[in-house]
Amino acid sequence: AAAAAMALTLTACGQSSEGGSEETKDSAKGGTIGIAMPTKSSERWIADGNNVVKDLESKGYETKLVYGEDDPDQQVSQIENLITQGVKALIVAAIDNKSLNNVLQQAKDADIPVISYDRLILGTENVDYYASFDNEKVGELQATYMVEKLGLKDGSEKGPFNIELFAGSNDDNNTRYFFGGAMKVLQPYIDKKQLVVKSGQTKLTQVTTLRWDGATAQRRMDDILTKSYKTDEVDAVLSPYDGISIGILSALKSDGYGSKDKPLPVISGQDAEVASVKSIIAGEQSMTVYKDTRELAKVASSMVDAVLNGKKPEVNDTETYDNGSKVVPAYLLEPVAVDKANYQKVVVDSGYIKASDLK
Ligand code: BGC
Repeated sequence: AAAAAMALTLTACGQSSEGGSEETKDSAKGGTIGIAMPTKSSERWIADGNNVVKDLESKGYETKLVYGEDDPDQQVSQIENLITQGVKALIVAAIDNKSLNNVLQQAKDADIPVISYDRLILGTENVDYYASFDNEKVGELQATYMVEKLGLKDGSEKGPFNIELFAGSNDDNNTRYFFGGAMKVLQPYIDKKQLVVKSGQTKLTQVTTLRWDGATAQRRMDDILTKSYKTDEVDAVLSPYDGISIGILSALKSDGYGSKDKPLPVISGQDAEVASVKSIIAGEQSMTVYKDTRELAKVASSMVDAVLNGKKPEVNDTETYDNGSKVVPAYLLEPVAVDKANYQKVVVDSGYIKASDLK
């Protein structure tokens, strides 16, 4: 069908074959790209959506951007609509990584290439490329920061310190990479009893937080404090995402943490969201992991542009991200640990957050 349409355009324009191929290239550029993002409840996805739109428009594409409100069924029907509307390519940040097989088969049948954005889509061959960050490294950065803050690095005999563990949504493929990366660092200290998880909840299945919801994490932290910390205090909390960190901090503060006698534990995060960077400046959340979503948007847009022009997108990883059906060629960006000492340089001076937003 695409070839027939192209032929029609050429005939209608009555161009010479040289001019005609120009025309074809231009019309390939003029197509609409569908972008499916998971939720507006977190800043990063709003920025991701806007940045992808901006980058694609600068390359001459039109865009349709949709948000799935963290509801997998809604995301599926949104993508179906995009396919019906005739988009030329899809960029998808999945809500539930396993719920997209049927709809991506529809995309395949319509010859629509698919870029998996940030979160790997699982269980289907119909994912062409993956644009993300080094997700295991995110977890490593979080955990390394915590053990350093507790003074456990470099063979120190210190401890035992009490730590509690939180992970992201179980339907997000990134969750196991973040948690896996963190546990690679933490497990040796847990084995040596320098770190103790008093709740006993150490398995990924025990510590996930459906849809990354901060209120859910807050309730779990409340519960853990009530049951396992009657007489003792928690010294560190592994949190995978800023929204979860804010929830955990609320539970801790309601329990009296944050005073001179009962300091807040070391607590990690991810995404450098404004509320968390403010919390870091105020000395509450300890760190976050900054991932420049402007760069991610550029990578995804360039992938689309390359694929639609018959070129191979640039990738830098062809072995890590096996989605169960294939190893998806990926371009992975580097995450950066951010705390009070470097937030100015990393997130403000780079223009990611405006200084005035942190007032
Ligand atoms: C992203 C994180 C984000 C989380 C919650 C993950 O898939 O990689 O950056 O914190 O989703 O939105």
